[in-house]
Amino acid sequence: MALRFHNTLTGQVEDFHTLVPNQVRMYTCGPTVYDFAHIGNFRTFVFQDVLRRYLRYRGYEVRQVMNLTDVDDKTIRNARQAGLDLRDFTARYIEAFEVDRKLLNLETPEFMVRATDHIPDMVALVERLAEKGYTYQSDGSTYFHVEKFKDYGKLSKIDLSGIRAGARVDADEYEKDNARDFVLWKAAKEGEPSWPSPFGPGRPGWHLECSVMAMKYLGESFDIHSAGVDLVFPHHENEIAQSEAATGKPFAHTWLHAEHLIVEGKKMSKSLGNFYTLRDLIAKGYKPTAIRYLLAEVPYRTPLDFTFDGLLQAQRSIERLRNFRYRLTMESFTAGGGAGLKARAEAARQAFERALDDNLNTAQALAAIFDLVLEGNTAMDRGQFKDGDRAAFLDVLERWDRVFAVIEDTDHAKLVEFGFIKPREAGAAPAAVSAGAHDAQAPADGDGRAVLVETVGDDEIEKQIAARNRARRGGDFAQADRIRDELAKAGVMIEDTKAGTRWKRK
Ligand SMILES: [Zn+2]
Repeated sequence: MALRFHNTLTGQVEDFHTLVPNQVRMYTCGPTVYDFAHIGNFRTFVFQDVLRRYLRYRGYEVRQVMNLTDVDDKTIRNARQAGLDLRDFTARYIEAFEVDRKLLNLETPEFMVRATDHIPDMVALVERLAEKGYTYQSDGSTYFHVEKFKDYGKLSKIDLSGIRAGARVDADEYEKDNARDFVLWKAAKEGEPSWPSPFGPGRPGWHLECSVMAMKYLGESFDIHSAGVDLVFPHHENEIAQSEAATGKPFAHTWLHAEHLIVEGKKMSKSLGNFYTLRDLIAKGYKPTAIRYLLAEVPYRTPLDFTFDGLLQAQRSIERLRNFRYRLTMESFTAGGGAGLKARAEAARQAFERALDDNLNTAQALAAIFDLVLEGNTAMDRGQFKDGDRAAFLDVLERWDRVFAVIEDTDHAKLVEFGFIKPREAGAAPAAVSAGAHDAQAPADGDGRAVLVETVGDDEIEKQIAARNRARRGGDFAQADRIRDELAKAGVMIEDTKAGTRWKRK
């Protein structure tokens, strides 16, 4: 089956074709770097990551641009409140976003570009539009004349009948029923950053930024444009208007929009106290791979209800996958291998590919892999799994994880690397009062991260496990159980398998 996507532009699920064979040129609206990205933002970024990973899996060369909006109404407002220069202010959120991306296993797009590095290109696009008669000036700002672009509204399907001729909007964000001429270049204001231009000093409108960066790196026509559904209007509608008015060519061919995320059944908002950044969840002890899993498991066109129960289930699902892979790699099976199980592995691979081909149906792709895990575990428990079946199962798991990227357990190492967890020093005694995997957390240190302090160090865990194994060999099971319980209190779970004792932090 061909790869199929729901295209917002046509309102239909259609076969996916690229303009250049085997190459996908894709623009993804990135974060506005005025604050830490929240889990609603990350739902979209995880979707875009699954998308790019699956395109690559399908053999496409992907050329992805993600912008960093580092000048707009919100960044200017917050930089002023912080008393910082705009570029210095946004730099700290760009850095935080980089770390968050790595924690969530988001692949790095080929181009991560800052709006303020492209001001001359933006000025050039406004000039081009002015030459073609699509602009007018008022009070030092330059506006796009919506009525002159006959296709205006084709993406969001807005009704333009109520639009008032000459009514303008300066804000970057506004509602559909307020459709009107939008600003391309905003006149300089006291206390705001500005750049020189032939139409006076000022700064770009937000919509202009994305049009310019998309066309600069991808060409005037390209394959995919994607973001969260809240950007369909006015952002993407205005991007189309500016770009197509200037070039006379179709801008992006396929428009993909991820639905909203809600939290525990309610709209996420600071006033409801259910607003979470990635860092908030990490401070509560949740693992990045579990968060990634939860954000990826609901197909992108379905609203996602983010719950803490769901997060725990996600963690358990990942454990099942990891345990299965552990058995596949570490257990010894009898020689041989039947065609039956190999055929099952092949069927599971086809099922998850079919699901993702179908407009990225991640829920079905997950179901396909868990069917395989169940069958594999059952065959192992019954002694029917043979050494020759191992490779086929491992291959499917590996392929599946190229897209979902949750099986490798890298959470702890990354949280230590980026300073979210302070490891207990080698040789240090375990914390006197054990309250789980970490001591009471230190307060957030200003970059949004609470530093968790480990209750017990790796070397101490290894020592305790060795002591427990000695106790078991000597028949002192009471002592072995005591050690096991102590480790559990410190948040360390141990598991005895045929291949030896494994441990992991809760
Ligand atoms: Zn954008």
